Amino acid sequence: MIHDAVVVGAGSAGLSCAHTLQDGGADFVLVSDTLGGRICYSADEGVNFGAYFVMANYHNAEKLITRRTRIDPLSCRFHDGRGKSFPTLSLNTLRRAPGFAVFGAVMANFIRHYERFKKDCEYMSQREAMERDPYIARLFHQPAERLIAHYRLGKVAEDYVSKFSYACTGVDMGTITALDFLNVCQGLVLPIHRFSFDEKAELGRLGDHFVRGVVTGHSVTDDGLHTVELADGSTVQAANVVFATPPVVTAEFLGLGEVRQTCQLYVVHAWGRLRPVFADQEMNLFPFTSPVIFTARQDDGSFLIYSRLPEIDLSEYFIEHEVISRKGWTKAMYVQGRAYIEQQYGDSTYVAGDHNGLGLEPTAITGVYAAHQVLNKLAR
Ligand SMILES: Cc1cc2nc3c(=O)[nH]c(=O)nc-3n(C[C@H](O)[C@H](O)[C@H](O)COP(=O)(O)OP(=O)(O)OC[C@H]3O[C@@H](n4cnc5c(N)ncnc54)[C@H](O)[C@@H]3O)c2cc1C
Repeated sequence: MIHDAVVVGAGSAGLSCAHTLQDGGADFVLVSDTLGGRICYSADEGVNFGAYFVMANYHNAEKLITRRTRIDPLSCRFHDGRGKSFPTLSLNTLRRAPGFAVFGAVMANFIRHYERFKKDCEYMSQREAMERDPYIARLFHQPAERLIAHYRLGKVAEDYVSKFSYACTGVDMGTITALDFLNVCQGLVLPIHRFSFDEKAELGRLGDHFVRGVVTGHSVTDDGLHTVELADGSTVQAANVVFATPPVVTAEFLGLGEVRQTCQLYVVHAWGRLRPVFADQEMNLFPFTSPVIFTARQDDGSFLIYSRLPEIDLSEYFIEHEVISRKGWTKAMYVQGRAYIEQQYGDSTYVAGDHNGLGLEPTAITGVYAAHQVLNKLAR
């Protein structure tokens, strides 16, 4: 049987692609070894081991998840890594008021451009959408630290914003692009929520379209018939293929050139009693000099601790603690380098995911875009 499309990978990109194909009435198969990918919500523990929050403007990704509690930006403590810290609202915030005003204006301008860019990206490639908006293209090619210097945001960035960006990406201002930086910083000015992902409901929605398996090979004939091979020896054939796998995996399947490099993130879920300096706010945010990125109190009183090293000494932060579970991501987020990956190869091979930008919403949009290309062809 030859399907309209085979989608490989069921993270935010692959699921958004599959939903759009399903809504458009296409005959497709979604093949993946996991459902949700780096969404990675644990229903047993009620916590997120992958993506931690969604923003109010996640119009596509929100179709995949259920919002839970709102994260309170006023309940954060910002640490300087040398023993000094201040909560979100303090005398230091007042001192930084002029810098915050500039930051607010930069964010307002960015969000105006970015909302239009994201909408464009549902129907045109990211390259075309960037050609329509040179402001976004400039941000894509610029390190965040240059943007910070340009707007003289040094102190506000050092005390607050860079710590939030580090919490979202695990990297510093010299590594991340200005586009990724402003993208994640929307979380400082828009409502953000923890969320859950209902794997059973997703399986119910996809029904026979979903095949759990590992794809080990892909080939395409001269007349455009794609064959995807699975580890169990079975194959799926289709007129179109969408690789919604992580960039390194997609690059290997399609022989792509350079992709962005990843950061590593390690998550510990623990019970415990924090030391007094860490205990008064919901979250503690640390600077890049600290291997611990942030700690976050959960609804049931337990804690998530994110770090960029596999082993950290939790007794520095807790008077007493008990680890419930751990999750390590050796390829967490594709945030390093300026490589750009096209979204279409030939007539019928599409790429979706976080090749050119991070986060659940940008990746969901790449899946929607790939599905629109397939549906457009079917409509002709
Ligand atoms: C610790 C952490 C925290 C994060 N925090 C946030 C956050 O707070 N907010 C936010 O918006 N984003 C966050 N992100 C980023 C976000 O999770 C990712 O950008 C997004 O989930 C990527 O989605 P994707 O579909 O492109 O890739 P993935 O989610 O990686 O999906 C790829 C899919 O492909 C499958 N696959 C891979 N190889 C094969 C194969 N050979 N055969 C079959 N299937 C295969 C995988 O199993 C998976 O289902 C975080 C990421 C991490 C790791």
